[in-house]
Amino acid sequence: MSEFLQTRVAEASAVPLRPDHLFVYDLRAPLRIATRGEGCYLYDAEGRRYLDGAAGFVVANLGHGNAEVAEAMAAQARTLALAPFTVFVTEPALRLAARLARYAPGDLNHAVFVSGGSEAVEVAVKLARQYWVEVGRPSKYKIIGRWQSYHGNTLGALSIGGNRPRRRPYTPLLLDMPKIPPCYPYRCPPDQPPETWGPRGADYLEAAILEAGPETVAAFIAEPVVGATLGAAPAPPGYFQRIREICDRYDVLFIADEVMTGFGRTGRRFGIEHWEVVPDLMAVAKGISAGYAPLGAVLCTTRIYEAFRPPRGSGHFVNLFTYGANPLCCAVGDVVLRLTEEWDLAGRAARLGAYLRERLRPLEASPIVGDVRGLGLMLGVEFVQNKATKEPFPPEARVAARVAEAALARGLFVYPGTGTVDGERGDHLMIAPPLIIREAECDELASTLIAAVDAVARELA
Ligand code: PLP
Repeated sequence: MSEFLQTRVAEASAVPLRPDHLFVYDLRAPLRIATRGEGCYLYDAEGRRYLDGAAGFVVANLGHGNAEVAEAMAAQARTLALAPFTVFVTEPALRLAARLARYAPGDLNHAVFVSGGSEAVEVAVKLARQYWVEVGRPSKYKIIGRWQSYHGNTLGALSIGGNRPRRRPYTPLLLDMPKIPPCYPYRCPPDQPPETWGPRGADYLEAAILEAGPETVAAFIAEPVVGATLGAAPAPPGYFQRIREICDRYDVLFIADEVMTGFGRTGRRFGIEHWEVVPDLMAVAKGISAGYAPLGAVLCTTRIYEAFRPPRGSGHFVNLFTYGANPLCCAVGDVVLRLTEEWDLAGRAARLGAYLRERLRPLEASPIVGDVRGLGLMLGVEFVQNKATKEPFPPEARVAARVAEAALARGLFVYPGTGTVDGERGDHLMIAPPLIIREAECDELASTLIAAVDAVARELA
């Protein structure tokens, strides 16, 4: 037991702290206790400092320990922390909805508030389904997703997502929904440059809609830049423009999962703006509250909202959560979004992302690095054992996990992932620090990561 825990056990004799009372994520890993966060750094109970190179899991856009957010949260908690939303709306929810309507592209002007990314995806799917019921086309219910995508950990979100390791233990419980292949430049077919492969990769959607029967398909969902499962892989040029055309042709709604890519992370307000496409629905979370409160939202266009309005529509979206539109969380979202705009975090992500990418360039020469990619401050590294054939390492080599461990031992947290190539084989890392990061911190991040990759490359040689 660490000194920290021993001290707490001694202090709290009425309720002694025992590590096994908490069902932690990985029972095999050493227990590290985070005690404090400040700016881009986290501190543990032993007093060690870590550069948070993944902003939690691509969440802490404003960095840690922001006093203005903490004060807004405390003020709202004193005023009103909860009101039954079937009867009341609250001012923080109205304020945040108005701010989002101004911030989001096109006429994505209507928000449903939930508690995080998985709930946002569930609600986007339910909103898409009920939309078709409202307009008198109840045969449309299927949601087409992509392999090597991640849309959340609830059973519905796992069903439409394509992250095989996260789906595996729950397969018998999942809904059978159609999937198309992912599309990203590093693994385009060898005879297809990304510029022409973008629109052709999107054609898989048309084939899937025709196979399922367009009259049964409610929506298509995709991450503009695939995060956890592919390691910051943006779609090629032309991909989402073609996706939009196909969705329109077959009356299929397009849901952009912006849980990770929203709120400036990729150098634009939302990731999909790189393709100048407006989706019908957007699932957002993470950066909306920058980690200070559990918050997510679904944004929908006026066409969808109007379909619910009486007398034509039922007037009632059949969905509720105890913490839906919670005033405390919405107050946090409101101050976070104000700061996101005031500090031009999208512009910062574009500038600092280009700077960090440049500092990471030496990684391209590493014998185990196949690709360094990403947009803004959502960057990824894909590891391969053969740079010419792009052959991945066998899963038992645990390459991404080993690089992440080597980085952590040097005081840097990065986000590793596996299954990059086909859901089983392949290793990647995500580098996505707080958007407030400064150049000197980018230098530290890059040099630490390069040292960690070098150390693992030497072990593997
Ligand atoms: N969608 C995407 C693209 C994500 O990256 C994540 C989480 O990483 C989720 C959904 C699920 O969000 P949460 O973990 O807040 O439920």
